[in-house]
Amino acid sequence: RKDSRIVCSSLGGDSPAQSQLGPSDYVAQGVDIWTHRSLDFAPNTPFLIVASKEHLGVINKDLVLGSLDGSGIAGASIINPVNGHVIMSTGSIALDLQKAAVNHKGHALHYGGQLVGVARSRHIDAAGIVVISADQVSSQVLRSLQTSVPIGLLAGLLIGGLFYRSLGMRNPVETELKTALTRRQFSLHYQPVVDIASGRWIGAEALLRWIGVDGKSIPPDVFLSNAQTFGLMDDITKEMIALLSRDIELFAASAPSDFYFSFNLCASDVANSRVVAQLGELARACETKGIDLVAEITEQAKIDHESSSYNIKGIQNLGIKIAIDDFGAGYSSLSYINNFDVDVIKIDRSFIMSLGKNEASERLIPHIVDIARNLGISVIAEGIENFQQAEILLQHGISQGQGWHFAKAMPIGELVRLVSQYSQPGGASANLEASA
Ligand code: C2E
Ligand code: CA
Ligand code: CA
Repeated sequence: RKDSRIVCSSLGGDSPAQSQLGPSDYVAQGVDIWTHRSLDFAPNTPFLIVASKEHLGVINKDLVLGSLDGSGIAGASIINPVNGHVIMSTGSIALDLQKAAVNHKGHALHYGGQLVGVARSRHIDAAGIVVISADQVSSQVLRSLQTSVPIGLLAGLLIGGLFYRSLGMRNPVETELKTALTRRQFSLHYQPVVDIASGRWIGAEALLRWIGVDGKSIPPDVFLSNAQTFGLMDDITKEMIALLSRDIELFAASAPSDFYFSFNLCASDVANSRVVAQLGELARACETKGIDLVAEITEQAKIDHESSSYNIKGIQNLGIKIAIDDFGAGYSSLSYINNFDVDVIKIDRSFIMSLGKNEASERLIPHIVDIARNLGISVIAEGIENFQQAEILLQHGISQGQGWHFAKAMPIGELVRLVSQYSQPGGASANLEASA
C-alpha cells in the first residue's frame, strides 16, 4: 500500500498495476475497512479490503462465503446492522428474515421453519447470519446416527440432495421483489434540501421505500443490491419515475417558486437509453409546473463512459440537471467532473461526519469548493446532523445542505403539508421532527 494507492507488483511487470483506494467505509481500532471496493485492475470484482498501518489484505468476497456451498447451509451473509447493507452473502436469505435476525437480541432464532444463527461484531458494524432449514438440522442429526448403516446414509444423502435441488429452484428474495413490484409496494419519501443559513427548503430528494405487507419500511440499501443481482433495477427505476410523476402532480398546487425535485439513478440506469425516454414525459410535466429536476448519479458506481455520456447528455437535453452523489467517497470524483458536464456535486456524508475533528477529509473541503466554484458547479453537503456541522459548512462557503438536523425523509403528503411553511425565509426551524 502506497499512500492512498494499492500497488500490485505481480500484475503489470515493470509498471505494476495500481489503483486508488479512496476513503475507507469504516475504521475500527485503527484498521481501515472497505466493504465493496473494486480495483482499477479488477473492475468487476468487489473486494473486501482491510488495512492496518503495516499490512493490507485484499479478499475476494465471493470466495469467503463461497466455501460454505454444499455445507447444508441455506444462506449466509454479513450485514451492517445499522443500515441493513449486505456486505457479502451467499445463498438466498429473505429480506424479512435478514431484518428479524439483525433486530434479534440473542444468538439464535427460529424463523419461518428456519434456524438462524446471529453473531455480532463488538468492534465494527457487522453481523454474521447463517440460515439452515429446521428440517435440515434434524435430518443431519438423523444422518449422523445412520452413518453405520449404509442404506440409511444413502437415504440421507438422497433426501439432502433433493433438499438442495428444491433450494436451488426458488429464490425468495427475487420472488419477493417481483411481488413487491406487481403489488406496487414501493413508495417515495422526500428529504428536503435546505438553504443552510435560513433553513429554508429549496428542493427535495426522492428516496425509495419498500413498504412491506406488515406496514414496515425496508430501506433501499437492503433491496437495491438484490434488485441489481436479479436484474430488476430497470423495473424498479421505471416504478420510481412513475411514483415521482404522480407525487409531483400532488405537489404542484402547493409548489413554491424555484423548488426542485432530485431523484437517484444508478450506473445501470444511465447506461440504459429507456430511462432517458421514461424521464421525457416527467420533464415536460415539470416544465409546465415550474418545477426543476435533478438526477443524482452515485459516484460509488463505476460508470461506463461510452454508453453513459450519450444518455447523460440526453437527460440534460430534457432540462434535467446532473448531480454527482456521494462525491469524494468513491475513487473517480475528479474523472466524473472531467468526463461529464456536471451541474451539482453532493459532498459525501463521511466528509460532514469529520467536521470539527481536524481530520484530513475536512481539510479537503475547501479544495472541493474551489474546484466547484471555478467550474460553475453548485455544492450540496449531505448528512448534516448537528448545528456545529452546519456552522462549519457555512464557514467553508457551502450554503446548501441536507440532513437530519433539518429534516428526515417524509411521505409526499407531509411534504405538501409543510412546504409552504418551510419555503419562506425565516419560516424554517431546524430539528424538525418528521417521519424517517
Ligand atoms: P443517498 O442518495 O446518499 O441518500 C441519502 C441517504 O442518507 C438516505 O438514506 C437518507 O435517508 C440518509 N440520510 C439523510 N440525512 C442523513 C443524516 O443526517 N444522517 C444520516 N446518518 N443519514 C442521512 P436512504 O433513504 O436509506 O437511501 C440510501 C441510498 O439508497 C441512497 O443514498 C441512494 O443511493 C439509494 N437510493 C434511494 N432511492 C433510490 C432510487 O430511487 N434509485 C436508486 N438507484 N437509488 C436510490
Ligand atoms: Ca442521493
Ligand atoms: Ca449521497
